[in-house]
Amino acid sequence: MRTSWWLWALVAVCTGDQFRDEAERIMRGTPVIDGHNDLPWRLLTMFNNRLQIERANLTSLANTHTNIPKLRAGFVGGQFWSAYTPCDTQNKDAVKRTLEQIDVIQRMCQMYPETFVCVTNSAGARRPQPALLTGVRQAFREGRVASLVGVEGGHSIDSSLGVLRTLYRLGMRYLTLTHSCNTPWADNWLVDTGEDKAESQGLSHFGQSVVKEMNRLGVIIDLAHVSVATMKAALRLSTAPVIFSHSSAYSLCQHRRNVPDDVLRLVNQTGSLVMVNFYNDYVSCRQEATLSQVADHLDHIKKVAGAGAVGFGGDFDGVSRLPVGLEDVSKYPDLVAELLRRRWTEAEVRGALANNLLRVFEAVEQVSDHTQSPEEEPIPAAQLQASCRTMYGYSEAPSLHRQPGALLASLTTVLLGLGLL
Ligand SMILES: [Zn+2]
Repeated sequence: MRTSWWLWALVAVCTGDQFRDEAERIMRGTPVIDGHNDLPWRLLTMFNNRLQIERANLTSLANTHTNIPKLRAGFVGGQFWSAYTPCDTQNKDAVKRTLEQIDVIQRMCQMYPETFVCVTNSAGARRPQPALLTGVRQAFREGRVASLVGVEGGHSIDSSLGVLRTLYRLGMRYLTLTHSCNTPWADNWLVDTGEDKAESQGLSHFGQSVVKEMNRLGVIIDLAHVSVATMKAALRLSTAPVIFSHSSAYSLCQHRRNVPDDVLRLVNQTGSLVMVNFYNDYVSCRQEATLSQVADHLDHIKKVAGAGAVGFGGDFDGVSRLPVGLEDVSKYPDLVAELLRRRWTEAEVRGALANNLLRVFEAVEQVSDHTQSPEEEPIPAAQLQASCRTMYGYSEAPSLHRQPGALLASLTTVLLGLGLL
């Protein structure tokens, strides 16, 4: 049979366009909510968080995966911006740096109100509302990017339930329990490679309080970056579904940042969500990767955990290598076209784009109960590294917070009592 090659080429081009057109049609109604973007970290490292200088203009920002025209071209309608501070700030200035990253996200919303609206809930609250009461669905209707704060790394709360609650009030709606280091209360993924020692066997007693308090407040528990034991402990303990904001499937690429199949089954049982990371090293376990291999991860998670468990967590501006075809945030429609080519239904695609995240977010909001008493029990003093901190409030270490004068006075009293002076 002799069919001209050009006819096949024409069919291929036409079908390609058809899936791409279909992707755009779907995304006009259901834009993507991405689980993790590190633009705020880039704003710190490139401009020391000065948004008003010429080069920091987000409309023309160059050399980043993310800017306003690219977000528009990619049909991004919701973004968890990462308030990230590295592990070397742990036990030092982690809290201050986290506050500064939350501030830069909120200033993005102030400076570009036509593009971004900072939101803290899933709903479609009607105007007039203070900006922070606007929800994701309302932002969709207004054609703006619903901007949410995700704090990446439990070290950002400095082992304090008070800091956790305050970050919630400042807009934090997910907390990744660890970054790539243990906290005094949760173990990170490097425990599974043998590079770090297991210290909390998943979650310590205080770590369990953190999870309970997150449930009570309505903060999504994020298990990207944690050890498998921590994943399982949090999935069992949490009364609300959880997310992996930027993790892929372990059985396709044996990297410990990825999610193994037995955990994917727990994700299915709990109505939780895995937002697939596009970083080449987690997609193909090599330096190079393709858009099609990212779609393989989405297919795999759908097969093991169900279509309701799939989302996108690109990790744009947080990674150095991205797949061919997914070079920046403008490329999401090409990934959606690939899913349609693989016969994902429209409902499954809308789920992966936004509806699965909205379902989890609404469940987290429903479980939250601000009338319940807050968790109060502090972490034991012995579990804190004390070299850079005061220990006010801990009776176990009274001498650490006494003034030298007071210390001398009490020593004098004791010695006088003993008749030695
Ligand atoms: Zn990360």
